[in-house]
Amino acid sequence: MTKTKKLINAPEDIIPQLVSGMVAAHPDMLMREGKTGRAIVAVDGPRDGKVGIVVGGGSGHEPAFAGYVGRGLADAAAVGNIFASPSPEQILDAARAVDGGAGVVFLYGNYTGDVMNFTMAAEELEAEGTQVRQIQVADDVASAPRELRSERRGIAGDFFVFKIAGAAADLGEPLARVASLAQKANDATLSMGVALGPCSLPQTGKPNFEISDEDMEIGMGLHGEPGVRREKLASADTVTDELLDSILSEMAPVKGDRVAVLVNGLGSTSLIELYIIFNRLKSVLDERGIGIHHSWVGEYATSLEMAGASITLLKLDDELTRLLDHPCRTPALTVGTTEGAVAGSAHSLRRAAKASDSAVKTKAAAKLKSDGAITPAIFRAMMQRAGDEIIAERDWLSELDGVIGDGDHGITMEIGWKAVQGALANAEQDETIEGSCKRMAKAFLDAVGASSGPLYATAFLRAGAAVSDRLNLDAEALSAWLAAALQGVRDRGRAEPGDKTMIDAWVPAVERAERAAASGSEVDVMNAARDGAEEGMNATANLESRRGRSAKLGARSKGHIDPGAASTWITLRAMAATLAEASTAA
Ligand code: ADP
Ligand code: MG
Repeated sequence: MTKTKKLINAPEDIIPQLVSGMVAAHPDMLMREGKTGRAIVAVDGPRDGKVGIVVGGGSGHEPAFAGYVGRGLADAAAVGNIFASPSPEQILDAARAVDGGAGVVFLYGNYTGDVMNFTMAAEELEAEGTQVRQIQVADDVASAPRELRSERRGIAGDFFVFKIAGAAADLGEPLARVASLAQKANDATLSMGVALGPCSLPQTGKPNFEISDEDMEIGMGLHGEPGVRREKLASADTVTDELLDSILSEMAPVKGDRVAVLVNGLGSTSLIELYIIFNRLKSVLDERGIGIHHSWVGEYATSLEMAGASITLLKLDDELTRLLDHPCRTPALTVGTTEGAVAGSAHSLRRAAKASDSAVKTKAAAKLKSDGAITPAIFRAMMQRAGDEIIAERDWLSELDGVIGDGDHGITMEIGWKAVQGALANAEQDETIEGSCKRMAKAFLDAVGASSGPLYATAFLRAGAAVSDRLNLDAEALSAWLAAALQGVRDRGRAEPGDKTMIDAWVPAVERAERAAASGSEVDVMNAARDGAEEGMNATANLESRRGRSAKLGARSKGHIDPGAASTWITLRAMAATLAEASTAA
């Protein structure tokens, strides 16, 4: 497989340089705010008394999402890593910058990782006294049947939902109205796409899926998630008809209805092709007597350099039409004119961004139980080794995720574990295991986003809390640590055993650990957990996915190991190896 050439500098600089480049290119519209460096805020958007609109998601979809930040549209975007949700801290930076006292609306595509990270941010904002509403864009008809509408993925339909919500907020509508209008736009927006060729994450340079020269994949997701079927590449008209058929049969517009149209390129499909698609689309709609109120053709939500396109229709009524026509001015979309809008002055009226306090506090070690072989130093060594082995297995984890997900799991885990390793290196020698777990959770979550960020971070937090009465861990305490980690993943992700997730590695790991703890040593418990995880991981190959990105695959996910189950096994394996060495050395 040849590597894709890309003009980048160092892989770790990609997102920071994307953000500074965008802000520098559009200084009249965009600025950066907050300590994470990942909140892009409209220069003249947010103002007191106005509902704040925060959009966001992973990078790699440019001009989405930050391209829609500006007057009359979104007030801020939280910028995640490539194909990975922004973290709660990054989302909070965006939200605090746009909070004008009238509440904040979060708009983002319906992906497990985004849902978990935005929800964690919303919980924190609510605790600070800011009201939050969330709308998960779910326009991709290929990703789930109509009865499961709320489970669908969000693709280019973000464009219309953001536009309608941004207009409503700009017009001064209250929070509940902005949210219900955004939901109305979401309900009226349907999309479907086709992919002709893959894209590759800059960190690996490898295509995230394989497709032969003769084929196309109908219904493929915006991160290369498999679509509904693979067919021989057909003509533009045939493909357009096929995509439109799925949309129109569900939307069921009648003669005289009006729609807005978006023909979107995924990254390496020429405008020639997009206009050819539009040409056919127009004649199909004409034939049915459906009017086009406005159309956009171009790159509005890409998938790095993926080849392919999507069609999105928004079914209009008078209310939606008015909001669609409301002026806005952003890097990616300008409608009407916003001349005369109060630039600058409104900005100074905004509330100062609130600071957050999430310092890691460590308990006095004095009255903690000190029996057990796992000292805080050994625990931290176990975690450092887990990081080393995850990083060493990065490409394998990404490959597993490429088959049934979006191909980022190895990269995501590498970013998270590097942050964990850095955070642990800064720990005081006498920091307790609970303190180190909090430190790990915060580092992981802030660095990662994606699905694995909230899942692993919650696991670390809960695991640490389960041993808060201890200095060292004995066999029982280690088993309690593992059980609490599992419970954290379950509470955060709400997956059940058998759904083909990391839970399926954790459950047998904890079962075996608990049995071993009844009579065995710390090493026995850790080895048992490792073996349970391995068995559970292998068994995920026979399961059909029901959670996360790969759930859309159904039976096609069979035969492949779940990447999160694999990273769980690697982590427990590394912990066991370090503990065994420490015990023989002692
Ligand atoms: P993303 O899916 O956002 O790209 P990653 O690729 O880092 O995130 O992680 C994917 C893994 O997350 C899956 O392999 C699965 O094990 C795990 N996962 C996804 N959703 C859930 C959930 N609801 N509960 C538990 N684990 C989940
Ligand atoms: Mg993934």
